[in-house]
Amino acid sequence: MTTERRFYIQTFGCQMNDHDSTTLADLLAAQGHVQVDDADDADLILVNTCTVRDKADQKAYSQLGRYRFLKERKPELILGVGGCMAQGEGRRVLSRAPFVDLVFGTQTVHKVPDMVRRISERRRRMVWVEMPNDSEAMEVFYAHTRGQGPKAFVTVMQGCDNYCSYCIVPYVRGSELSRPSDDIVKEVERLVSDGVREVTLLGQNVNSYGQKGGDGADFVELVKKVAGIEKLLRVRFTTNHPKDLSDSFIELFAQAPKLMPHIHLPLQSGSDRILNLMNRRYTTGDYFTLIDKLRAVNPDIAITSDVIVGFPGESDEDFEATLAAMKRVVFDGMFSFNYSPRRGTRAAELEGALPKELLKARLAELQTLQKEHGLAKNRRWIGETRPVLVEGRSKAGEGQLMGRTPENKIVNFAGEAQWLGSEVLVEVTDAGVNSMVGVVV
Ligand code: SF4
Repeated sequence: MTTERRFYIQTFGCQMNDHDSTTLADLLAAQGHVQVDDADDADLILVNTCTVRDKADQKAYSQLGRYRFLKERKPELILGVGGCMAQGEGRRVLSRAPFVDLVFGTQTVHKVPDMVRRISERRRRMVWVEMPNDSEAMEVFYAHTRGQGPKAFVTVMQGCDNYCSYCIVPYVRGSELSRPSDDIVKEVERLVSDGVREVTLLGQNVNSYGQKGGDGADFVELVKKVAGIEKLLRVRFTTNHPKDLSDSFIELFAQAPKLMPHIHLPLQSGSDRILNLMNRRYTTGDYFTLIDKLRAVNPDIAITSDVIVGFPGESDEDFEATLAAMKRVVFDGMFSFNYSPRRGTRAAELEGALPKELLKARLAELQTLQKEHGLAKNRRWIGETRPVLVEGRSKAGEGQLMGRTPENKIVNFAGEAQWLGSEVLVEVTDAGVNSMVGVVV
């Protein structure tokens, strides 16, 4: 009996999860399985879950519940669940959702094709969530990445040792471990030979790259090595921890022209009291010093951030301090969320949960301020000409292309499809909160 299947992957959560899903799709395709865009057409459905955001576990379980009906219609359907929720829940998934066939973890994605084969042959349910956490496993894991158009994401490290008090990542993605830099360079070279022109180096905290595992190179050396690859035009990276952002890395923005002038530097709160409760290990003063240093190297560097609104015990003064910090920095963009407790984290034990209405009101106020800042930051580019890497067709209309400036700002402009993957010079003519409009010069 053939085990080749039509598979559908649903992904929740962050860029790491997106990247894991791409890897998973590549691994399955290499075994002859075919990806489909509609769950109804699939006989293998994999849900890649997240636990970081609001009620993410519940969302994942209710999504699985919807697929249960498909399974009732199609008994041969294999339903799998992976990612951070599955890593944390392990075998419990099978009792909470008895119709699920396979459970895989954040570091056992590469086992999924084998699990699917075994389930197809023997029709028994499987759970594989052990964390191997060694570089051999990492190599297998990332040996099959491909670009998405001219861009690709390359994982440089796994896990996190920071234990921010609200965060589940260290528990579900394991301890920090870096890949050897030569291995990363080889992967990027292969992607570039496939047509990729921009790579984003991914890790939970890329600033501590090389501290555990790796081959002695730190993040500065890694970026220099990657930037040295011919035909690669752009290097990006995410995400950063302010406590580990070094002066030598900041200086790299002036030294390595391929390192794009954009940094995502999560602030999380503008109150030192809350930062301490979050176990972030920096103060707002430390954070502002980093911003000043970055802007001394490049006044136009784009700075984006994450903020959690309504951490337990957040007072009016704490929240005002966050707004004041935003006004001090003026971010180009921000992901902001209401705090929600994650089971097993230290913050989940804290008292002082805020009423829902207050959480909503604070988040709305913060997002209104950020919209003003984001718009002002984008409008600053009107009249300027920027190199734009063309990523694809734009949803803005017929004949429109979409690309990004070095500062990672989306620009829509009229152009020809054969420009895909090349850099063109675009004069910015208008700007909104989320994107800009331009003409090719
Ligand atoms: S640095 Fe903190 S927030 Fe980021 S992944 Fe690690 S523990 Fe989570």
